[in-house]
Amino acid sequence: MERRIVKVALDTPLDTAFDYRWIKSDEAEPIPQVGQFVLVPFGRREVVGLILAVQQASDLAEDKIRDVIAVRSQLAPLSSKWLALCYFAADYYQRPVGEVVIPCSPKNLRALKNTALDKAIKKTAKLKAPALATASVRPQLHDEQEQAVLALEADTGFSVNLLFGVTGSGKTEVYLQAAERILDRARMAGEAAQVLILVPEINLTPQLEGNIRARFPHLQLATLHSQLAEGERLLNWMAAHTGNADIVLGTRLAVLASMPDLKLIVIDEEHDPSYKQQEGLRYSARDLGIWRAHQLNIPVVLGSATPSMESWQHAATGRYRKLELTRRAASNAQLPRVSLIDMERNKAPDGLAEPLVAAIKLRLEKGEQSLLFLNRRGYAPVIHCDACGWISNCRRCTAFMVLHKPERRLRCHHCSLELRIPNACPTCGNVDLQPLGRGTQRVEETLQKMFPDARVLRIDADSTRKKGSAQEAFDSVHRGDVDILLGTQMVAKGHDFQRLTLVGAINPDTALFSQDYRAGERLFAQLMQVAGRAGRAAQSAEGNPSEVLIQTRYPAHPLYRALLAHDYAGFAQTTLEERRSAGLPPFMFQALLRAEARELPLALAFLEQARGLLDHEGIIINDPVPMTITRVAGIERAQLLVESVSRMQLQAFLKPWVADLRALKSKVRWTLEVDPVDI
Ligand SMILES: [Zn+2]
Ligand SMILES: [Zn+2]
Repeated sequence: MERRIVKVALDTPLDTAFDYRWIKSDEAEPIPQVGQFVLVPFGRREVVGLILAVQQASDLAEDKIRDVIAVRSQLAPLSSKWLALCYFAADYYQRPVGEVVIPCSPKNLRALKNTALDKAIKKTAKLKAPALATASVRPQLHDEQEQAVLALEADTGFSVNLLFGVTGSGKTEVYLQAAERILDRARMAGEAAQVLILVPEINLTPQLEGNIRARFPHLQLATLHSQLAEGERLLNWMAAHTGNADIVLGTRLAVLASMPDLKLIVIDEEHDPSYKQQEGLRYSARDLGIWRAHQLNIPVVLGSATPSMESWQHAATGRYRKLELTRRAASNAQLPRVSLIDMERNKAPDGLAEPLVAAIKLRLEKGEQSLLFLNRRGYAPVIHCDACGWISNCRRCTAFMVLHKPERRLRCHHCSLELRIPNACPTCGNVDLQPLGRGTQRVEETLQKMFPDARVLRIDADSTRKKGSAQEAFDSVHRGDVDILLGTQMVAKGHDFQRLTLVGAINPDTALFSQDYRAGERLFAQLMQVAGRAGRAAQSAEGNPSEVLIQTRYPAHPLYRALLAHDYAGFAQTTLEERRSAGLPPFMFQALLRAEARELPLALAFLEQARGLLDHEGIIINDPVPMTITRVAGIERAQLLVESVSRMQLQAFLKPWVADLRALKSKVRWTLEVDPVDI
């Protein structure tokens, strides 16, 4: 009787693989293989895990080992390369491997019944092999694009390429033609090939998916992102896993897709914070993408108009190759003209200064579109009582309740608590409660009053709650049904608005004085990105370049000076010098231990204990401190920052430290984040 011991990874916080016994039940049944999914009993439940090893014997006593229920042998096993990627991610981010391999596979694959899987296998088998490339119409590349594509095409091994180009300079065209040439070359050589394209948020870049489908009608494109229905997600995952999909387009989770024939990885807007997963395995999809390219010995392209400081620094030292696109692709499109409106000199009782109002008026007269950017949703961030000083604090968080006027609610953006707007001050009974500051809803109201005939549209997380409503809203802007578009960072990404010639940034200053040292870098990227929405196709009717107006109280701030000159390189240089002298990333490597408890002293005491656990030569362990927003939903939160100038040294410290932390079995909930982005 054939039998094996299989070691199975399960989605548990326990850092271990579990032994199960497999016994051949009939002649036809194949021996289980590493990389296959398997149904096993776990406690009183049945769960699906992944086989990490197949052995003859176990170290456990025979009666401690339970039997495998079923092996999903109808699915080709995940490759050893893919498993190595998962082991690396688990190791680097200090999580059990089960928390990597299980959650990143589609839910339907993990279902207790085979039905969905068998159906997907049948459907996938019916897909025909893609035909040979047909000559599709592709735009002529300008010389810089051509050089970039040639450089990528010439790479036969691992290389990290920073494709640095202003918005509208045609980075996407470089991705597509490089992908096409690499796929074609493989096909000519009789090899299979796949390309992975990562984007920060797929819903904000629907044009890209459309472009790829239109360009490569003969190729299979599979999308992978969290908003797919489960059935579709499994089918698309299968298409990637079987090699049927030539191109996989996805968000950060797609970096862990099984792609046996991967030959090129593209990471668009590589600086975008959405590439960082903020729960569970807190990975950076960009960093894993680079590791994966190295593992497979293939090129990876990081595209951005405002690269992250990490990538820029690597390009400066020559670790990455910089490919530069210095001008816009459409020959008559110029960079927009950026100007600052000094808010110390300009009155703006409604939040909009006179020069901005005049510029909007001009666009309305000419039938052109304006875009106003305000990264704060709701009507006002807080309401207060003039008589007694009461202010709308959330009772569960160290945060304000935000006024949402159309919904007639106060909402906490941290714990989602909702209350009716009080008719009178809860403390003194004053009925005249005042909103303080302004969010998108309030500016929308102002615009409607100022320009009663204009068609104003607000796009933010509140206006786009319904599925598909964001798409609908963007479509109406493209159709020209909107005169003034107003929104949060949602409007900054991806879209080319043909008739847009004015961009206004309403209150960007808040980010300048944030405690988060990355806030400036993010603000610069956002403003560049939102400015790039203007005049992408052509200039305004009178032949003037499009215009970007920024309202600020600090017109002399270096960030704004760099923005005026479209000088990312200058901004990056200053920022990097500051980071170097302050001992911050990318010159320092960090990990952040966070603790949560009902009472703050408990969380702090846990961190204090954690600090004393291990000898730490070459490692800086800072004081435990409460987080900026200390309390969320009644839970107090504190953190401990661990740093080292050496990534290897930090990693060498973290491994045993995390083991010791686990061994404490503390009641305090804790998480560790390697390379944290929000501190
Ligand atoms: Zn009051
Ligand atoms: Zn709250």
